[in-house]
Amino acid sequence: MSALDRIERGDGLYRLLTRLGGEDFGGHPECAETDPDVFSPEPGRRDLVKVAKAICGRCPIKAACRENAIRSGARGIWGGTTEGERRQIVRRRKLVVVQGNADEVSRAAERALAAIEDASGASVPGLRRHVEDVLRWADENGDSDADRAEAVLIVLRPELQYLGLDDIAEEVAA
Ligand code: SF4
Repeated sequence: MSALDRIERGDGLYRLLTRLGGEDFGGHPECAETDPDVFSPEPGRRDLVKVAKAICGRCPIKAACRENAIRSGARGIWGGTTEGERRQIVRRRKLVVVQGNADEVSRAAERALAAIEDASGASVPGLRRHVEDVLRWADENGDSDADRAEAVLIVLRPELQYLGLDDIAEEVAA
């Protein structure tokens, strides 16, 4: 890790803590006292990734740190996630459109079902049928776009949460 990268990392942590208002979080980020190389491991250094994630796992601001890294595009391990894992989170977040017209809701439902199949490694015919029924009923009832979206997401949400697709589930709850 270059000297510049070290400074960038230190700056990133400083900006995060400043943004959080310098509160007493009931603990402190151990990464501040750890060799920064642990949080920017060379490719293949799974051992360091493991150490960094364990440190983040004890951190009281892990969730805020992860979110901050997602939004800022920071490099290295932040909030217990690698850059690749954060890219996955972003992709998943794009899967569900909570608000939109009937076509957008249908497409979002299809993408969420595909994500569920992908995560579970199996097809989900029962769930698909359920979603199709909900969309058909919405058509028959002349439901508003918002009601249609809510109905679909109520069906999908437990499965998303069960499979740990929390980021989609958070979007659902938004
Ligand atoms: S979650 Fe990890 S990277 Fe973020 S402040 Fe805490 S220890 Fe540092």
